[in-house]
Amino acid sequence: MLEIQNLQATVADKPILKGLSLTINAGEIHAIMGPNGAGKSTLGYTLGGRPGYEVTGGTATLDGTDLFELEPYERAAAGLFLGFQYPVEIPGVSFVQFLRESANAQRKARGEAPLSGGEFLKLAKEKAGLLRMDMDMLKRPVNVGFSGGEKKRAEMVQMGILDPKIAILDETDSGLDIDALRICGEGINAIMRKPDKAVLLITHYQRLLDYVKPDFVHVLAGGRIVRSGGPELALELEENGYEAVAA
Ligand code: ADP
Ligand code: MG
Ligand code: MG
Repeated sequence: MLEIQNLQATVADKPILKGLSLTINAGEIHAIMGPNGAGKSTLGYTLGGRPGYEVTGGTATLDGTDLFELEPYERAAAGLFLGFQYPVEIPGVSFVQFLRESANAQRKARGEAPLSGGEFLKLAKEKAGLLRMDMDMLKRPVNVGFSGGEKKRAEMVQMGILDPKIAILDETDSGLDIDALRICGEGINAIMRKPDKAVLLITHYQRLLDYVKPDFVHVLAGGRIVRSGGPELALELEENGYEAVAA
């Protein structure tokens, strides 16, 4: 589904990704772990097409389509979802409005008719329910005054509505208490653990992986995948730290 080969990328002219290769098949959940500054967020931003992240070599395809040929909104329409380490606040726009517009922008890019008000509301309620989110909460401005856990749960509601093929979730577990972690983990499983979907979880900690069990775990260090294994690799990292494992 997602095939990354020898990816090289720079941020502010500084090489960050230095030949990263990774293959993710439909139905698989992968986790990338690695020390601070390893390039984990850079990988997500580069695949998403964030301005300032420049691809200098290598390829990335989603179901055979070259991602780097697509505008960021086209990548989203093609089925790529990015969950951000630091969700942005948008004062003046309610989360419900934001969700409806992002859903309809995606549909438009796919040549599909927009959702009616009723269709959208039904979908939003269903996904909010999965994340135990009150619809009243979603009437508030996007992320303004939301706790860390509420921001991440709201982001998972958005993921549910956009129904991506592949989700790259950057430290979805950061700033979450135990209950929010479990709710987000269960939400990710409910939305994404399907034979025709895949997930790439970027995380520092084993704890999210207790809820969303990865099929493969990779260590990213120095801009490359330096080790890959099964779920046991995450436990080994937790035990021994990155230096021992990545050396
Ligand atoms: P990680 O998510 O693994 O902690 P990042 O991908 O955020 O790492 O960062 C990788 C490296 O790129 C770091 O050394 C960071 O300082 C650098 N970097 C990230 N964004 C920028 C930027 N906008 N300008 C300059 N350097 C950046
Ligand atoms: Mg970091
Ligand atoms: Mg990061």
